[in-house]
Amino acid sequence: MVMADVERSAAAPSERLDLLQTVLQQFDEAADRLDLPDRLRGILRVPQRELTVNFPVKRDNGRIEVFQGFRVQHNLARGPTKGGIRYHPAVTINETRALAMLMTWKCALAGLPYGGAKGAVIVDPKQLSAGEIERLTRRFATEISVVIGPERDIPAPDIGTTPQVMAWIMDTISMHQGHTVPAVVTGKPINVGGSEGRLEATGRGLTYVLMSASQHLGLNVPDIRLAIQGCGNVGSTVAREAVALGMKVVALSDSRGGVYNPYGLNVEAVLTHKAATGSVVGAVNADTLTNEELLEVECEVLVPAALSGVITAHNADRIKAQIIAEAANGPTTKAADAILYERGCVVIPDILANAGGVTVSYFEWVQGLQEFFWSEREVNAQLRRVMINALQQVLRVAAEQRVDLRTAAYMLAVQRVADAVTTRGIYP
Ligand code: GLU
Repeated sequence: MVMADVERSAAAPSERLDLLQTVLQQFDEAADRLDLPDRLRGILRVPQRELTVNFPVKRDNGRIEVFQGFRVQHNLARGPTKGGIRYHPAVTINETRALAMLMTWKCALAGLPYGGAKGAVIVDPKQLSAGEIERLTRRFATEISVVIGPERDIPAPDIGTTPQVMAWIMDTISMHQGHTVPAVVTGKPINVGGSEGRLEATGRGLTYVLMSASQHLGLNVPDIRLAIQGCGNVGSTVAREAVALGMKVVALSDSRGGVYNPYGLNVEAVLTHKAATGSVVGAVNADTLTNEELLEVECEVLVPAALSGVITAHNADRIKAQIIAEAANGPTTKAADAILYERGCVVIPDILANAGGVTVSYFEWVQGLQEFFWSEREVNAQLRRVMINALQQVLRVAAEQRVDLRTAAYMLAVQRVADAVTTRGIYP
C-alpha cells in the first residue's frame, strides 16, 4: 500500500481505545461552556446510525477469511455525512464512533455542508496482496452500499487506504448502478474524477494554518524547527511544504522509528530512503530516535501525524514545542491538553489543523456533481480561504472566552450542529 493518509505509529492499543472517552470529554467541556440543553447533548453525544458488517474475502491461497467492518454516521443535521475509511488491525467500533464524531465537528468548523461519518475494516493491509485488498474493498463497498451514496454518505481515504482503494469503491458502486457515480467517494485518483490538490490537501491545509498561527505568535519562519511523527501522506506533505516555506524539519518518523538532525534533515533524501527501504530509519546524515523520543526533541513545532493517544499526561510536561499542530485525529488526551495549556503550549486541534483533507474532499464532491473541474491553483486558493477563515474564528472565540484553541473550535462547531438540529426540529 502506498500513500496511506497518515502513517501508523507505535501507539499502544490500550491508549487508542480511549479515543471515544477523549472525544466525549472534549464535547462535554464545550457543551458546558455553551450551556447546551440536555436534550441536545443527548442527541449529539451518540452516533445517529451504525452499521457493522461481517464479510468473506477469498485470499490468494484459496482460503476464505471473514473480516469485520463498520460505517458509523454520527450526525446528519447539516447535510450528507462525510469521512474516511480506515484499514487497521486494531481498529474498533468505539474508535470508529469517536472518529465519526470528530468528522461532524471538523465539517461544521470548516463550514462544509456535511455531517460526520467514519468507516473501518479490522485488517492489516500490509499483510494483504493488492488483489486481496481489491477483493476486500469491493466486498466492503458492497456491504456498506446500503448506507453510502453522493446524497447520503461519502467515504474518503484514511489510515491504511489510498486513492486506488477509493477508485475500487467508486467502480463497485458504479457497477451496481450501471453508470459511473464519481461523487460517491472522494480522494480518488485524478484520472477517475479526483481533484487536483486532494492528495496534498491535509498537509497543505495544516501548513497554511501553521504559517498564520506562527505569525500570530511572533515566530520567525527561518527559526521554526519541526518534529513530525508519521511519514504517510500527511506527514511527508507537511515535511515538504515546511521546507519549501523555509522552515527546518529536525525529526521525522514512521512505524519503525525516526531520524533526527538538530540542524535540519534533508527531507527529500529521507523520503527517497523510505521509498527505497520501506523506512526513514538509516537515512544518511541523521541520528536514529524512537517515536516516543521524537515527541520530546527541541523544536518550535511538533506535528503528530500518526495514530491517536500519543501525547498523554505521561509525556506532556516533557514536550518542548511551542506549537502542536495535530495532523492525526485525536493525538492528545484531555489530561495532556490541560498540562500543555498550563505550560503555554498552543495546540492547534485536529478538527482545525487537519481539516484541509475533508475541505478538498468537499471541492472534489462539488466538482464531481457539476462535472466541472478546477485547476490546482483554484483548489489551493479556496483551501487557504477556508483554513484561514476557520483559524481566525477559532482565535477570536479563544480570546473572547479565554479558552484553549480546542475548546474554542469545539464551541464553534458544536453550536453550529446544535443550531441545525434545533432549526430542523425533531421528527415526527
Ligand atoms: N480521513 C480524513 C479525515 O480524517 C479525510 C476525510 C474526508 O476527506 O472525507 O479528515
